[in-house]
Amino acid sequence: MTDPTRLVLLGGGHAMLPSLARAHEWTEAGVEVTLIDPQRWLYYSGMVPEYLGGVYALDEIRIDLRRLAHRGGATHVAAQATEIDAAARVVRTEDGGEYAYDLLGVDVGGVNPAVPEAAVGTKPIYRIRALAPRLEHVLDTPGARLALTVVGGGAAGVEVALNVTGRFAGAGRGGDLDLTLVEQSAQVLPGFPDGMRTYAAQLLRERGARIRTKTTVDAVDAVGDGARVKMVSGRDGGATMDVDAVLWATGAVGAPLLRESGLSTDERGFLHVGPSLRTPTHPRIFAAGDCATIPGLDLDKVGVHAVKQGPLLRRNLERSVRGLARGAVPSESDLAAFRPYPVAPLLLSTGAQEAVWTAGPLWVAHSGLLRLKHWIDRRWIRTYAPAAWGQASWSRLFGAEAASA
Ligand SMILES: Cc1cc2nc3c(=O)[nH]c(=O)nc-3n(C[C@H](O)[C@H](O)[C@H](O)COP(=O)(O)OP(=O)(O)OC[C@H]3O[C@@H](n4cnc5c(N)ncnc54)[C@H](O)[C@@H]3O)c2cc1C
Repeated sequence: MTDPTRLVLLGGGHAMLPSLARAHEWTEAGVEVTLIDPQRWLYYSGMVPEYLGGVYALDEIRIDLRRLAHRGGATHVAAQATEIDAAARVVRTEDGGEYAYDLLGVDVGGVNPAVPEAAVGTKPIYRIRALAPRLEHVLDTPGARLALTVVGGGAAGVEVALNVTGRFAGAGRGGDLDLTLVEQSAQVLPGFPDGMRTYAAQLLRERGARIRTKTTVDAVDAVGDGARVKMVSGRDGGATMDVDAVLWATGAVGAPLLRESGLSTDERGFLHVGPSLRTPTHPRIFAAGDCATIPGLDLDKVGVHAVKQGPLLRRNLERSVRGLARGAVPSESDLAAFRPYPVAPLLLSTGAQEAVWTAGPLWVAHSGLLRLKHWIDRRWIRTYAPAAWGQASWSRLFGAEAASA
C-alpha cells in the first residue's frame, strides 16, 4: 500500500475557501488534507467595515473554517505557522508541531507593517474585531464619548471611518465621536479617482471627522485605557493626540515566515509565484491571495483578486494531487493560468444609504449600489457558511469569484 498524499493548506484566507469547500473530493480519494490556521473564523473583508458600522452582526460576516475543514474530512490545526522548511517539505508551528507535506498551498494574507501594540491592526483582518466592543460600549452608554484615530487613508481606513462616522450619526450621537484620519500623502484614497477622493473626504468632514494629510504617525503609546499618538512631518509634525483607540490601517507586507522561508519574495516580502500560482523554484508549493505576487502583473492586495484566484488555486492543486498519484508534479503547461480583472472593481459602503463603485479611473456613488453590494456580499458568505452548505451547488461555488470581497 502506498502512503497517502499529504496536502497542507497553510492559511484559510479568502483564496483558500474553494479548496476547503471541496476538500471532501480529496479526502474521499485518500488524500490527507490539513488546514493550518490559528483562527477558527475567517472574516469576510467586504463586510467588515459595515460590521463596524452596525449593519451586520458578527455571525453574519464570518465563515467557520474549522467546520468547513471537518465537513470535508480535513484536519484543522489551530496554530500559527512559524516556518516553511521547503527543503525538508515541512511546515512548523509555534507550538512545536511539524506538518510534512507532499503539496503545500499558502494563503496567509499579509501583516500590518510595524503595528504598535497599543493600536488595533487590520491585518490579518480578524484583528479589527477588537474595535467593535469599544464602539458598542460608547453607543450603549448615554453621554459617553469616543476619540478614535485611524492611521492610513487607503480604502480600508476610509471605508471603516465612513462606516463608524455613519453609525454614530445614524444613532444621533455624531457629536460623541471624535474621529481623526491620518494619511501620509496629500489626499485620502491615493490611487483612486480624484472625484472619489474628494467625495469621501467631504462625507467624512460633514460628519465631523478631521483629516490630517501629509502626516505620518511615528509612535502609538499605551496611556491608561487609551493611547497617545505621536505624529511626525506635515503641519502637525511633533504634535501628539490622546485618544481612546487607534486603528492601524497602513497596508500590508509579507509575514516573516514567507521572507524567512528561503523562497523567492518581492521587496515587500510576498511570495513570487507564476501565473499558475506555483512558486518558480518549488513545484510543490502554491500561493494565492495577498501573500502571493505574480511578477509583471502588479496586482493590488485586495480581496477581489484573492477571491478570483481561489478556484484556480483549487484547480491547480487538484492537477498536482493527480500528478503526484502518478508519481510526478505536473509541468507548468499542464496547469491553468490566472487571468486577472483588467482593473479590480471595488464596492465601498459610505456608511449612509449608498455605496461607491470604482474601477480604474471610473467611480460612481448611488443607493442602488449599496443594495447590490449587500446582495453580492450575502450571496458570497452563504456559499461558504455551513448552514447553507447543503444547498450550495458547485456552479454557485465557482461563481463565487464575482464577489466584491
Ligand atoms: C477593513 C478592510 C476592508 C477591506 N475591504 C475590501 C473590499 O471591500 N474589497 C477588497 O477587494 N478587498 C478589501 N480588503 C482587502 C482584503 O481584506 C484582503 O485583500 C483579503 O483579505 C486577502 O485575502 P487572502 O486570501 O490573501 O488572505 P486573508 O483573507 O487575509 O486570510 C489569511 C488567513 O491566513 C491566516 N494566517 C495568517 N498568518 C498565518 C500563519 N502564520 N499561519 C497560519 N495561518 C495564518 C489568517 O488567520 C487568515 O485566516 C479590505 C481590507 C481591510 C483591512
